[in-house]
Amino acid sequence: MTSPPLTLEEAIKLHGHKGPWLILGYRAGLRACEVLNPKGYHSLHCVAYIPLKIPYTCSLDGIQASTGCTLGKLNIEIHRADVKDIHFIFINKENGKKLELRLNYDIVKEVIKGDMIKASKFVEERPLWKLFKERLYD
Ligand SMILES: [Zn+2]
Repeated sequence: MTSPPLTLEEAIKLHGHKGPWLILGYRAGLRACEVLNPKGYHSLHCVAYIPLKIPYTCSLDGIQASTGCTLGKLNIEIHRADVKDIHFIFINKENGKKLELRLNYDIVKEVIKGDMIKASKFVEERPLWKLFKERLYD
């Protein structure tokens, strides 16, 4: 996939509003596609570890929009995790390569305390390496 299925603007339309968790998911998915370079819509699989409540689950819409890993295709899986343990694992099924993106807890704290507009801007502008700890493995 050379470009994401949906732009961030389209993802906001799909989701209904612009929020920090949508953007975090969107950016995580973009990064996964960049690193793992899946060739087709069915190649990538995402396992999300997040608290199973809004707003954390907003990240799932971001991931679906930027990766094409969707509920309908069953290539996105959701597991309950503590707020200190939010991470996403992306797997390229063509070659088995995996990318883990672990959200820094400092970012979570920053997002939780800010209002939605400020928090959205914060996660949109911050370099990716400050948001997620990245690990690539086979
Ligand atoms: Zn939301």
